[in-house]
Amino acid sequence: MTDQAMIGLVVMGMFVGMLGVEALGGFHRSNSDAWKGRGFALAGIASHALLAGPVVSLVMGLLFGRVFPDTKGALAHVSFWLAFPILFLVQELGHYWLHRWSHEKRWLWKFHRTHHSAENLNALVLYRYNIFWTLMLPQVWIGALAVHLGMFEVFAACALIEFAVNALTHTPYRWDLALRRVPALDAVFNGLEKVVTLPDTHHAHHGLGRHANLRGNYAVTLFFLDILFGTAKIPRARQERFGLPGKFDWREELFWPVVRSEAGGGTAPRA
Ligand SMILES: [Zn+2]
Repeated sequence: MTDQAMIGLVVMGMFVGMLGVEALGGFHRSNSDAWKGRGFALAGIASHALLAGPVVSLVMGLLFGRVFPDTKGALAHVSFWLAFPILFLVQELGHYWLHRWSHEKRWLWKFHRTHHSAENLNALVLYRYNIFWTLMLPQVWIGALAVHLGMFEVFAACALIEFAVNALTHTPYRWDLALRRVPALDAVFNGLEKVVTLPDTHHAHHGLGRHANLRGNYAVTLFFLDILFGTAKIPRARQERFGLPGKFDWREELFWPVVRSEAGGGTAPRA
């Protein structure tokens, strides 16, 4: 097994663990929306394994194996503590702008809309997306480049932290509100919420209603990017509901632009 496959396995273990914890809390009771969510999550995992994985390895293999073969392991000597913050910030910046443009640009919205049509937030939403979305993720390409350059540990740390934060901010448990009941922790959260994405700010990104911010709160982890670029909203509240106005064809949700069953493109509503 390759080192990257091992990271994939660890991530899957964390994902299944998260699903189990949520199921115990009664957040995965079967209904038509739940079954749709499960199907979409399976498609998303398959897209990572069967589409993004092979395509990224092929392109990187051709580019760096044939065109720049001397670059293999070229940055292996760089200190972890120097490379890690740089790679993490670059990945977060790349994702922030892809994510923001996916909400603002007509030609990108339908690649991302699938992630937002979920009416319930839970771990399944982590893998709920159009199957081509995985190919567009900057962290997939930047991560593969980092491994090629000899920075596997840095890549692994970035991937695991990003996944953990993603899981902790998509979960229906409002652990942030629970911890805020402790006065000393409330003060800590008042600072933390301006730096790191928390359930409060990410739920707002998926929410509908007065506490929502569907046109902002784009950062996976580093929320200060939203503050820096003027897209932050910190509601400190539970969302009234999640999802998007309207119903969508699941085939188009998964396979846009190959399947085009609805007219028009549109952008993310302003909630
Ligand atoms: Zn989004």
